[in-house]
Amino acid sequence: MSGPLRVLPLGGLGEIGKNMLVVEYEGRIVVVDTGLRFPTAEQMGVDLVLPDFTYLKRRAADIEAIVVTHGHEDHVGALPWVLRELGETTVPVVYGGQLTVAMARSKLDEHKLREANLEDLATETVKQHGPFGIELVHLTHSIPDMRGVAISTDLGTVLVTGDYKFDQTPVHGPPADVARLAELGRDGVLLLCGDSTNADRPGTAVSESVVGPELERVFARCRGRIVVTSFASNIHRVQQVMDAAAAHGRKVALLGRSMRKNVNIARSLEHVKVPQGLLVQPREIDQFPDDKVVIISTGSQGEPLSALRRMAYNDHHQVELREGDTIVFSATPIPGNERAVNETVDRLFHIGCEVITARDAPVHASGHGYQEEMKLMLNLTKPRYVMPVHGDHKRIRLHGQLAQAVGVPADRVLRAQNGTPVEIDGRGARLGAPEHHGLVFVDGVDIGDPSDVALRDRRMLSADGILIIVATISEEDGSSVVAPEVMARGVPFIDREDPFFEDVREAVEDALDRAADQKITEIDVIEGIIHDDVAAFIYDRRKRRPMVLPVVVEV
Ligand SMILES: [Zn+2]
Ligand SMILES: [Zn+2]
Repeated sequence: MSGPLRVLPLGGLGEIGKNMLVVEYEGRIVVVDTGLRFPTAEQMGVDLVLPDFTYLKRRAADIEAIVVTHGHEDHVGALPWVLRELGETTVPVVYGGQLTVAMARSKLDEHKLREANLEDLATETVKQHGPFGIELVHLTHSIPDMRGVAISTDLGTVLVTGDYKFDQTPVHGPPADVARLAELGRDGVLLLCGDSTNADRPGTAVSESVVGPELERVFARCRGRIVVTSFASNIHRVQQVMDAAAAHGRKVALLGRSMRKNVNIARSLEHVKVPQGLLVQPREIDQFPDDKVVIISTGSQGEPLSALRRMAYNDHHQVELREGDTIVFSATPIPGNERAVNETVDRLFHIGCEVITARDAPVHASGHGYQEEMKLMLNLTKPRYVMPVHGDHKRIRLHGQLAQAVGVPADRVLRAQNGTPVEIDGRGARLGAPEHHGLVFVDGVDIGDPSDVALRDRRMLSADGILIIVATISEEDGSSVVAPEVMARGVPFIDREDPFFEDVREAVEDALDRAADQKITEIDVIEGIIHDDVAAFIYDRRKRRPMVLPVVVEV
């Protein structure tokens, strides 16, 4: 007798971001999505936040496939780290839609991971892997090639929606495959894991197609340069901005590495069509009159290193914003990013720019369905059990209430959390014992971006504080003349009463003795020795890395 079907979320519940769902049956595993999250303001200097996937590392040999629903960072962003840790060829296959696979491949390529087996899996095709049948279902979202994932087993089918809205007039490609969803519902969906992002919004999300004409109206009244900021992955939006620009005889410059990269990928797959001669290089924009230029830029979330943020702080090497420029925020802040966005907006006002956000005009459409669409998904698929995912605690609860509103009994709505699996067998469904889960931080330095020493410093400071060491040595022989002073600021793991403080002071004395023995008199060399010895000492004893700043004074 095989054990229960388990669905274990390692991320994405109680938060918006780093989605990762582990579906297990008969000792085998399918992973749906390997997402990341961007750090909050408190996680200073951390570049990325990944789900802790230690569980997968332990079970690497049991993995049949990874399926990525779409190309957004909160679904595909952690893939390079997952494959590197699990072993690129240990995972038999990574499935996704065409654009998703192309974006994943480009991402893996940047990490020099070229062995992984990525496969563009067509819809209406069931791939058998161990006890699972895997099928992708076409849905609409703010990026092309969004796919829900139906995983069938002999116990029943798990349907993971991924991010979706029911856009009846998508900018490109067909609407969601409601027929297939209804068929799955008729054949019986055991568990629906549904997107909860907009569970707090009544009604239906507006179609992406509404945004284009609105952008045109905005463009029509602007006399100066226009900067539109959006998610780099929002390919349809980029298309609509380019179309609006072309309609008003404006040239378009793409700003931000991810923006250029995604447009190139999407262009090669013909997901965007760029009119001949429309694109210009950012450095060329000064050759055109102000009313003939549109810049499409990253930075809609106020990200510290993004092009828009840099422009707002007059720190961009190619574009200097000035009075008369109009900045259109064609995105809304993801919960948690509001402060950074507000700061950016205020800097833009300071410069004298006009700022238009989704609150001023419908220049943005959410990629996630509202309440009525979530009800439609529930009614089409008629799941026996519902597990709301992709949302903070509030939205997960609201999604559960929507399920009950359309007739799912309360005891079949399973409010799981990261690390807590849903277990289903012939007798019913329940929450299982928690598994190891958590966060992993990624520091950009590790992945080939050595320019940002400042970030690393800030991270060290935010995590472990700073130790300032003042040593006074004799000019003649370098010996320590008074006891070295150790000052700690923001060091959470030692306080003044701690005897460890005295040990640190002794480590400084030892370092000074070592320097004196070696007849070293250059101050910066002595400071280097103190730094290295004390840092090693603290790491050895406490496994922490505060910043160590030695100051040596000669008397
Ligand atoms: Zn998402
Ligand atoms: Zn998404």
